[in-house]
Amino acid sequence: MVEGMILKAETIWCRRGRIIRNGAIRIHDGTIAEIAPVEEMAVGDERVQDLGDAILLPALINAHTHLDLSLLKGKTEKGSRFVQWLRTVGKARAMMFFEGRSIRKGISETIAGGAGAVGDVSVSGKSAAILRRRGLYESVVFCEALGLDPADAGRKADELRSKIETLRERTPMHVGISPHSTYTVSPELFRRCASLAEELGLPVAIYVAESESEVQFLMSGQGELRELLEAFDMIPEKWRPPRKRPIHYLDDLGALRRRPLLIHCYQVDAAEADVIASRGCSVAYCPRSNAFFRRPADSLRLLLDAGINVALGTDSLASNDSLSMLDEMRFLKQRHPELGWETILEMGTINAARALGIECGILGEGRPADLTAIKPSAGDDPKFGILGEGASVVLAMVAGRRLFKGRKLRG
Ligand SMILES: [Zn+2]
Repeated sequence: MVEGMILKAETIWCRRGRIIRNGAIRIHDGTIAEIAPVEEMAVGDERVQDLGDAILLPALINAHTHLDLSLLKGKTEKGSRFVQWLRTVGKARAMMFFEGRSIRKGISETIAGGAGAVGDVSVSGKSAAILRRRGLYESVVFCEALGLDPADAGRKADELRSKIETLRERTPMHVGISPHSTYTVSPELFRRCASLAEELGLPVAIYVAESESEVQFLMSGQGELRELLEAFDMIPEKWRPPRKRPIHYLDDLGALRRRPLLIHCYQVDAAEADVIASRGCSVAYCPRSNAFFRRPADSLRLLLDAGINVALGTDSLASNDSLSMLDEMRFLKQRHPELGWETILEMGTINAARALGIECGILGEGRPADLTAIKPSAGDDPKFGILGEGASVVLAMVAGRRLFKGRKLRG
């Protein structure tokens, strides 16, 4: 914990519309005590650090990742077919000898990329303790549940409950539930997960509308996803396709009632976007993972136009080159140049905080000192340069504790 320090920077972006030029932030006991222009801030005996032309902003938040897949970096092929990729990841998961190492590597990349919290989907829940140890206290670990056979739903829900209760006893971290997706979870298991979430007060995350194969599987019961699930012997004899598009299917099941975080949503149409908006769900949108599978990017416009809270995520290193949120925001700007820089910063800060249900994402007095500093690319206006090619993260701090410091800083 850093006691009593002042960080100065040419630009402080507190939230949309609140920008302070030549500003300073006073941090005391891990909390932001004051934000003001440099000339208005009285300096006592605190240590002062001048970040120069860097822009100080709230710590970035990665709304969706899988830290346990970090050792798969470079082991999957860009442009892979989704089902082929699922096979590769499934095999790698089955040989998860190095889970702790994978999680630690993922966390180091996360911090170096400017994030101070993540929404991690985990099979074992092991990331919770490691995230806490590394100081990413506000992260949410979603424990995954899978099972298309309704006969297994009770047992799976009981297993999930005992895993979550143990995890919460051992580690004071935010824990959630992730009934995996429309094509791997039975209606019965969705219902049980919803009542467990209700009873224990847990956030929920669901993968939905990710691929064309998912839509085809739900509408007709056919296609390559069916072949994959059959190969894993996951389709029960009595299973019948719902013959509904993914969001309508979840809505009719009542699975949107607890306002789950919907991960991906690349294949939604305008009517589905309206349903997401009317249910008040957030979306975790992962631009580079979307591009990895060469999927269409036009659903983002539909989601934003519908007024949905859209947060950014990197997804895992099995479908991305890095876990850097700065890289993710930069890629989003290149792919969607029409988006304003503040819209993109919001997707990586306050929107992600809302999506995960955590109290972060803006800078303000009395709030925890969760900060990131980004040095803009040379010669650019700092406002726009932070999403430019040469921009780099020079500081990541959570609750006043420095997690990462890039190049040598003055002060
Ligand atoms: Zn994912």
